[in-house]
Amino acid sequence: MAERTLLLVDDSMLIRQLVRKTVSEAGIFSNILEAEDGEKALGIFLKNKIDFIITDVMLPKVNGYELIAAVKESAAGKDIPIIVISASRKEVIDKIRGLNMGASDYVIKPFDSKELLARITVFIRLQDLQNELREKNALLEKMSMTDELTGLYNRRYFYDHINMQIALANRHSYTIGCLLIDIDYFKNINDTCGHDVGDKVLKGAANVMNGKMRGGDVLARFGGEEFIVCLIKTSQDGAVNAAERMRKAVGYANLSNDAGNPLKVTISIGVAIYPQQGLGSSDDIIKAADNALYCAKNGGRNRTAVYSGLAAWPKNNLCKDKKECI
Ligand code: GH3
Ligand code: MG
Ligand code: MG
Repeated sequence: MAERTLLLVDDSMLIRQLVRKTVSEAGIFSNILEAEDGEKALGIFLKNKIDFIITDVMLPKVNGYELIAAVKESAAGKDIPIIVISASRKEVIDKIRGLNMGASDYVIKPFDSKELLARITVFIRLQDLQNELREKNALLEKMSMTDELTGLYNRRYFYDHINMQIALANRHSYTIGCLLIDIDYFKNINDTCGHDVGDKVLKGAANVMNGKMRGGDVLARFGGEEFIVCLIKTSQDGAVNAAERMRKAVGYANLSNDAGNPLKVTISIGVAIYPQQGLGSSDDIIKAADNALYCAKNGGRNRTAVYSGLAAWPKNNLCKDKKECI
């Protein structure tokens, strides 16, 4: 049985016993909490995670309608099904309408146990469906921003993120860094060890890099054996340090998980800092980082290079000069 707590409110012990017996026999709730007046019920509601309420209308201290209004106003209570037990059909219908109690339902005293159970079951089913839908939506949302193989953020998420960071950097005058990372000679691994081993290397390298990330910075798989990072509030030196930290960590790591049969790769990294002259959009920044990456590859791989265009990209891209590679 799913964990589900019922709050049962009635000043008549007899009714409470009857309802408790009915729902216990049906095994609907794992936990039943009772209150004999509205004030006590509110206290229990505030201290416990309540999934369902069955309440009388005429209650001492705080009446049933006041209790419902207070529950529905709270964040924890707005989706809780409430069944009202009343001696007067007309009164309860009028009040439920008047208070706009949403999904609440009612039974009239003396009530039939089967009817009460049927009404509870409808709401429980609805609740289960809503929870299922919520979980599926959360999963879909996660899938839409995640790369399946590595579990990192995907390219789409990265674009959303860097575009937001560019806007924030413009507004609050701070600097962001973009690192474009590419595994060196990765095709050789696929060719000599097979695609499965290639996949394992991608996952392993992603894991190692993720372990070197600072909170607030985002690492994503850009595609194939390319990864991308957005560093916030960083100087050029800070971005190069972050890149070198990742490059060294990947270079040291044994991605085979087998000490006797090590599998090692190196990475090359292109760094671009924003803002700088000539870079206006995320595409510009990524192209600049790609340009620096090209430079790192040309410079011999397993290194970091920085884009340092002084005017509109890509005309004066000093990074094309190998001497600019570090
Ligand atoms: P370089 O040092 O210049 O970057 O050389 P490289 O071999 O790493 O680069 P290249 O672009 O020639 O090869 C990249 C390879 O990555 C080719 C492609 O089949 C492989 N690849 C892309 N995505 C995946 C993937 O998801 N899994 C595996 N196993 N391989 C992939
Ligand atoms: Mg590549
Ligand atoms: Mg490569």
